[in-house]
Amino acid sequence: MNSILTDFYKVAVENELIAALGRDKVSTSFIDRKVYSSDELVEWTCPSPDGDCDPPIADFVVWPDTAQDVVETIKIANRHRVPVIPMCGAAQNRGSILPLHGGIIIDVKSLHRIIALDTENHTVTVQAGVICNELEAFLNTQGYTMNHLPQSQHISGIGGFLSARSAGVVSTKYGKITEMVLGMEVVLPNGDIMRTKPVPNSAAGPNFNYLFMGAEGTLGVITEATFKIHLLPEARMFRSYLFPDYPAAVNAVRLIMRRGVMPAAIRISDELETQVFHKHKGSLMIAMFDGFEELCALEAKEAAGIAASLNAQDLGEKPALEWWEKKRFSVAFPSSEHPAFALPIPGFVRVNGCIDSAGSFDYLVAVQRKLRTLMGKLNMFVVSHSSHFYHTGGMIYPRFIGQLMRGPGLPAAYTEIWKQGILLSHELGGTINHHHGIGLTLARYMNLELGNEGMENFRKIKRAMDPNNIMNPGKLGL
Ligand SMILES: Cc1cc2nc3c(=O)[nH]c(=O)nc-3n(C[C@H](O)[C@H](O)[C@H](O)COP(=O)(O)OP(=O)(O)OC[C@H]3O[C@@H](n4cnc5c(N)ncnc54)[C@H](O)[C@@H]3O)c2cc1C
Repeated sequence: MNSILTDFYKVAVENELIAALGRDKVSTSFIDRKVYSSDELVEWTCPSPDGDCDPPIADFVVWPDTAQDVVETIKIANRHRVPVIPMCGAAQNRGSILPLHGGIIIDVKSLHRIIALDTENHTVTVQAGVICNELEAFLNTQGYTMNHLPQSQHISGIGGFLSARSAGVVSTKYGKITEMVLGMEVVLPNGDIMRTKPVPNSAAGPNFNYLFMGAEGTLGVITEATFKIHLLPEARMFRSYLFPDYPAAVNAVRLIMRRGVMPAAIRISDELETQVFHKHKGSLMIAMFDGFEELCALEAKEAAGIAASLNAQDLGEKPALEWWEKKRFSVAFPSSEHPAFALPIPGFVRVNGCIDSAGSFDYLVAVQRKLRTLMGKLNMFVVSHSSHFYHTGGMIYPRFIGQLMRGPGLPAAYTEIWKQGILLSHELGGTINHHHGIGLTLARYMNLELGNEGMENFRKIKRAMDPNNIMNPGKLGL
């Protein structure tokens, strides 16, 4: 798919971008445009029947220094009806930054300043391109943490995390990034700058932060944000329990949450994950408590009482500590000792995907069981864990894995697996996505999530804010 810009317009837009931003903030080089035009992990699937077409490629890459650079870029884009795609770490892995119609990729990582640390009022203000790990490292040197610790914290940035409503591993206690942000600065699709107040809370009308979080770049470019921060915990305590099966482990989490105990992280592996990753039979729960020593000890004691009342086996701190120290950033698959992970047979390719969703405690049990059966019929194995718990339920991360025959039918077969999984999550009452977001991959299912009325209102908002449809067109089902 090629750019919709004529060569004449490309030169006009390039000249205007260079005049507004300066030569070294604008690139038209093929290498830059190619590198910036793909997700880290999403492979381009050509929609034509013969499979013979090029992936989409941007016309320009720009590296803004300031919100004003973003304003200038968007004004030029609007004048010439050129698409604008904000990109941060490119790790959302949903095709969300593919420049479907060409246009300008704004690499927000060049907005990488930490603007202010306010230790009296427990906030930090940063530009939106700061990589999460760098922010966390800076805060740690000052004795603080943001407590946003996703597995991808080394590659993804603040703007991407906000735009895709991400969740880190200690979200059970500290919330998703949506609960951490106080105020934001956003460049709107018409080039105006809008700011929300960085106050602890408010009742003055709607909370506009929520308009931009989850919009995945379709309603503007987030350029700055202020977040809550916390003192680094004095202590961390690790506990591990083995339950007979996944429903029993889910029940334990339900009772822990009901008791008001708040582990920073709690993660349960289903039976297959417990077997292949942890070499146990049953369903493993690992928990991490943080804060001051007495608080950790009390919460760990309460959780232990609940686990014992459900006849769980106490495995001590080792599995939980090992996960925290070694495995929480790992995405490795185990070697081929289980058929799910066997090497592909000739003529087949290994495929996998993750249908992360969220719902009530009942939902978690139902979807884990039914997805396993459904995927079994499609010759896929499902390995699941649940984490990111709430008072009313939690997230489930089912990874399907298996082999599909090479050939022209492969993309359709792969899409069908996703479709069936998403439909099941929806029919059982869950959200179709908990934290990876929608992008292109799940765009066709947005009607399920928002309903026809919700989707229509979303389109109206988009049309009102972005009448020329320049902001990340083609994503989120818009
Ligand atoms: C190995 C791995 C592990 C992961 N682990 C987690 C995890 O633990 N938790 C989790 O939540 N996610 C996880 N992810 C997914 C990914 O990190 C998140 O989706 C993250 O929110 C994407 O941020 P990014 O900086 O990579 O954004 P990008 O991929 O660059 O962009 C994502 C979307 O946001 C838009 N966007 C980016 N910046 C801006 C901005 N400043 N203003 C407006 N729109 C913008 C883009 O246009 C795009 O639509 C993981 C991904 C990988 C590859």
